[in-house]
Amino acid sequence: MNQTEIREGFLNPLSSDGQRILHENIDLNSIFDENEKLIEIINRVGHGIMDDDSKIPKSLGELAIKRIEWYFREKNDKKFKINEYSYFFNEDIYENDVVCFHLLAQAIAQQYNTNSREARLFFESQKRIIEERLNRMNTEFRNYIVDNTLDELLNNITTLKWTDLINLISSKKISLEDLLLSGGEIILNEDDFRETFYTEIEDWQERRIESVYNELVGYKVKELILTQIIVQNTEEYLKNIKEKLAIIDIHPKIKKLSEELEKQLKKLTEKYSEFYGSGSGFSNEFDKAEKLMKEAFPPCVLKTIEGVKSGNRNDAIVLFLTSFISYSRLYPQVFKNNENISISDVDPNLDITFNEILPIINEAAENAVPPLFEDQPQEKINIVSKLGFGMHSEPKLENEGETKWYTPMSCEKIKIHLGNLCHPNKACKKIGNPLSYYSMRKWQLKKDGKLNNTSKDSSKKKDKKNK
Ligand code: SF4
Repeated sequence: MNQTEIREGFLNPLSSDGQRILHENIDLNSIFDENEKLIEIINRVGHGIMDDDSKIPKSLGELAIKRIEWYFREKNDKKFKINEYSYFFNEDIYENDVVCFHLLAQAIAQQYNTNSREARLFFESQKRIIEERLNRMNTEFRNYIVDNTLDELLNNITTLKWTDLINLISSKKISLEDLLLSGGEIILNEDDFRETFYTEIEDWQERRIESVYNELVGYKVKELILTQIIVQNTEEYLKNIKEKLAIIDIHPKIKKLSEELEKQLKKLTEKYSEFYGSGSGFSNEFDKAEKLMKEAFPPCVLKTIEGVKSGNRNDAIVLFLTSFISYSRLYPQVFKNNENISISDVDPNLDITFNEILPIINEAAENAVPPLFEDQPQEKINIVSKLGFGMHSEPKLENEGETKWYTPMSCEKIKIHLGNLCHPNKACKKIGNPLSYYSMRKWQLKKDGKLNNTSKDSSKKKDKKNK
């Protein structure tokens, strides 16, 4: 296939072109059968994988699993080499890949919640595939396919207003700051830019006009809109499949694909857990994710664990302690990385959540006067909700994403709302959030060799208690 033959389905498997390819090529019964045409393409366009048979997908089912695998490894495997999956970015895989996209959507919708880690891996991998495919095109063709795909996505609207993208803006996929606006309209094309700002730029040299347009808009804004609309449509598509699956039976081969995907993700998670468990490889000595060290807790946290009195109990434990303990154990770098993540991104099987985080929160609830869950058992559900697992009695992966993982309160907020917990010491003067206090003290205590093993011991005790 040459580049001019590629149509919108290469970037957007949900386009009319993608739908056509799906209907012409789908045969659910054979998705795990060896596919000679696919093997021939992989042998022709795959790079550096011929020495290892396991790297060559031989059926559409295997190709679908590789589609998630490559993204997972790119995110978590420090030794990852993108060339191992180069066939995904070659036009010749196009039709097989469109089918795999739809197979994966079915498999994920049948097995997981639409907010689950697996669903997010699917959405994010689609975004990365689009970016990488665009990056590998020559400029002329890249602009051509972006214009065509975007026209179809926007139903050939001639004047795009920011209100047309309200769903993308409200879900924070696009910020208004990314867009160049004039009277509510989004300026996308160079001609519109010249016309709209005619009086401001009429004395400018041609080169300057082009360079300012490219700086403010150019193809980067079109590509951002295009990519995020496709991701949003993919999210909607998954929700629709899930609704349909509630009333129809899933095909046994799709069920098999779900199971194979689950097995592969489990293997990958275990293999790369060193990177995954420490916050996707972002951590450093100062704020890395590791066993909790009680010696480094700030006074407000110690006071909450020791027992708070009625009046403050609920907010102190549900709002303050739950987020502090969970982030300090799993993702202490939250404010530095400024990235929205979920607990399962850093604790994939929720083992740490059950064995190390919830026991401390339960201990604080038990020590409260009177014990929190005795007269207010519904607060257990609120704790689960603040961990990002919706309004349920315990955290379950399938419910993740129904609520947000609540970030730790700042000292300023604690002083206003939970003033009786704040008894600042000398170290408090240097920080603005109990989480920063914890990272700083932990680092200091380690440096001074003053950490003992109580943290490890206490977590072992809780492990036992939990069994
Ligand atoms: S200053 Fe901040 S960290 Fe220190 S006790 Fe008060 S709320 Fe806690």
